[in-house]
Amino acid sequence: MRYRSPSLRLLLHYRPYRLPFRVPMRTAHGTWLEREGLLVRLEDEDGAVGWGEAAPMPEFGTESAPEAEAACRALSGPVGDRELAAPAGMPCLEAALRAAQAELEARHLGKTGPGPVRDALPVAALLPAGRGAPAELRRRADADFRTFKWKVGAGDADEELGLFDEICAELPPGAKIRLDANGAWDRRRAERWLDRCAGRPVEFVEQPVARGADDLLMGLARDHPTTVALDESLVGDRDVGRWLALGWNGVFVVKPSLLADLSGSLAILAAAGADVVFSSALETAVGARFALGAAFGWRGAVRALGFGVWPLFSDARLDGPQAAPFLSHADIDRINPETAWNALN
Ligand code: MG
Repeated sequence: MRYRSPSLRLLLHYRPYRLPFRVPMRTAHGTWLEREGLLVRLEDEDGAVGWGEAAPMPEFGTESAPEAEAACRALSGPVGDRELAAPAGMPCLEAALRAAQAELEARHLGKTGPGPVRDALPVAALLPAGRGAPAELRRRADADFRTFKWKVGAGDADEELGLFDEICAELPPGAKIRLDANGAWDRRRAERWLDRCAGRPVEFVEQPVARGADDLLMGLARDHPTTVALDESLVGDRDVGRWLALGWNGVFVVKPSLLADLSGSLAILAAAGADVVFSSALETAVGARFALGAAFGWRGAVRALGFGVWPLFSDARLDGPQAAPFLSHADIDRINPETAWNALN
């Protein structure tokens, strides 16, 4: 149900951002230098505020940041009797508007939501694509991380396979590596990698082939012992239902910032007993606060959070909690959206 408050006048503000990364982010999609998106601030006449963030990833099939901004501009100002919703096909802006409304609703109804199911969750350390990965793995392992995520499909395949052997040899006992190909491989390459993963401490292989190759993904998951995860294949709510209907038995990488209706999607995934990983869309602390709140409320089995990304931005005021082997719920409570908002002034 959408929040309606006829007795309280609502005002929607937004601030667009363009934030350089501290270090360029290299993936199979290319090298990413800066993050574009926007923050929304929904205020009622009592001064209560709900926050949201639209952090689009058009290479995943979402709207672009300029599209989200144009739509948000049209919605901004007094909300009046309008339903506050993004145009169709804009899951990121819709996610932002829903997050802001849910926060206000919780305040007005005195609800705090279901609350955290756990006090702390493990975090996966993000390793850079290419040759820097083994050294970063050693550094992060020394800092007690035990789940690692490595971006593959971003360089020469033979070199990456060699690095993969090196990484597996460096993993501390009991540690696991997730590989993320960002859809870069064709069938032959995906099969070669999945064969190489068999018997190795690989937690899962994320999006081995491109979004849209549903039959191939189903076949790869069926024919190899290594778990396969969907990421780019999950954008918006419809994808979640579609993959459940197809009988997907691998992992669902949930980027809350890309799912228009996060609580609806999570309810469907929970009812199906789906294997879920919560993951960053490289959003600011505002979107991450919402995403991590959902992760701490998830009742299903726990996998390490894909939020080992900070420090991420040149301007640290936009960062979420510094990457550590565990995140506590108190870390999320400490995020102050106002700080990020003011940094965009
Ligand atoms: Mg991914």
